[in-house]
Amino acid sequence: MAHQGKVLLVDLNAFSSFPTLAIGLVTAALRRDGYAVQVICPLDHGRPTAVRERRERLTDHFMRRLHLSAYQPILPLRDLARRARAFVRDKPDRVTIDRIRSAIESRPSVILLSAYLMHFEVVRKIAAIAQQQDIPVVVGGPMFNIAATAEHWRKLPGVTALVGAESDLSIPHIVRTVVEKGDLLQFPGVTLPDGRISVAAEPLRPLDSTPFADFTDFPWERYPVRIVPIMTGRGCQWAKCAFCSDVVSANGLSYRSRSIGHVLAEMEEQARRHATRNFLFLDLKLNSWPDMLRAIAEQLPQRVPGAEWIGTVHVDTRADNGLSFRDLKAAVSGGMRRVSFGLESGSQRLLDSMNKGSTVEGNSEFIRNAHRAGLSLRCTMFAGYPGETEEDMAATADFLEAHEQQLDRVRFNAFSVLDETPIFKRVAEQSEALILTDLRPDPQRAKMEYRNRTIETKGYRKHKHRALASVYRINKRSVRSSARQFDGLM
Ligand code: SF4
Repeated sequence: MAHQGKVLLVDLNAFSSFPTLAIGLVTAALRRDGYAVQVICPLDHGRPTAVRERRERLTDHFMRRLHLSAYQPILPLRDLARRARAFVRDKPDRVTIDRIRSAIESRPSVILLSAYLMHFEVVRKIAAIAQQQDIPVVVGGPMFNIAATAEHWRKLPGVTALVGAESDLSIPHIVRTVVEKGDLLQFPGVTLPDGRISVAAEPLRPLDSTPFADFTDFPWERYPVRIVPIMTGRGCQWAKCAFCSDVVSANGLSYRSRSIGHVLAEMEEQARRHATRNFLFLDLKLNSWPDMLRAIAEQLPQRVPGAEWIGTVHVDTRADNGLSFRDLKAAVSGGMRRVSFGLESGSQRLLDSMNKGSTVEGNSEFIRNAHRAGLSLRCTMFAGYPGETEEDMAATADFLEAHEQQLDRVRFNAFSVLDETPIFKRVAEQSEALILTDLRPDPQRAKMEYRNRTIETKGYRKHKHRALASVYRINKRSVRSSARQFDGLM
């Protein structure tokens, strides 16, 4: 195939201990169309990857307590610590920038940046360098379908266009149009620097038309464990949690699944290409379609003997949610080693107000079953949801204490009100004004800063300390030995 031009693709994700799926998909699509692609990722030039989670020390416990503090005299210190942490995390890394600067000297036709909202300053820096060399920069990311965010980012000097769409199939055409200085507004989900926008992107269908990800440019020899990221589908079959920004992002709109055959064929191919048997499912909800989960458990061992894998589920209340003890046992036999799920809270009242579609009893039963089946269990949760009370936090602390022996890792965050979510809209309309104050929209990060005064009481703090002590007791232990190679990945 004739050479179409050269694309510099920059992976800004410094957290990955495995290749970045979005980059692999775009690389595959561009190469299929005859483009020469150069991929730059932080690890390939020696930048150590940041670990998301690890066995905790006492300092981690104190930092979490500070981060989640709602004790009034501490709030200025807490906010300072939060800002300092964000600054360190988000600041452009000099080695990466130098690497990009030298790659730009080879005059790529286009630079593509795959960005999360924390990458604003890095994108600013790269776009400015590219502008000096007169090289176009296209920035893609799942949240650029959100108007206020795209409006904020489009003003970065040197950015040619923002793309808030699943561009697995359209990216070669977008690149060609950029090179030919054509009309980018013919593609859905595009925002131009002058503020013009195209129509909103529809969810991509059928997913089987997307190529298998191309991870050949990633520095496999530098990863502590060779793990292939994969998705069986996009979106979430439930899609109703009031806080969830994933299902309003460009990639998460409405649930779609690949076919079982397409998923297994890719797993077989990736295992062969990269000489590994470890997989990380990045699906928002791996049990959206229970038969997919069951098929992987049943068929993967024949396709990739010795395969081991982990994924995230939602413990919903459907009669068949794919998470019965029998299903979990079969999943373990089929290579599943760890499962993560959104526990959020130990209070039924609060779960209902989030529209979580889960019950406290269902979560408890799932934890017992998953542990008994042999899985390492991780859960995510948060404090400070609008309307949360002292009693809710007491229920959360009780729940954690009751399940300490079965849980391997807990990620306990301060609640964030994220743009376009149902709770964001409610807060923005001020219907929660009695609960939340000091509202400050932050379109750069697609969220709302706020103060939640109902969690600043002594009683709430007492139960939160109890919950955090339980989290620390869990997180300071080693994870189940069968899942060690997956520790810190989700
Ligand atoms: S189950 Fe998970 S992915 Fe689905 S809407 Fe709720 S939080 Fe989002």
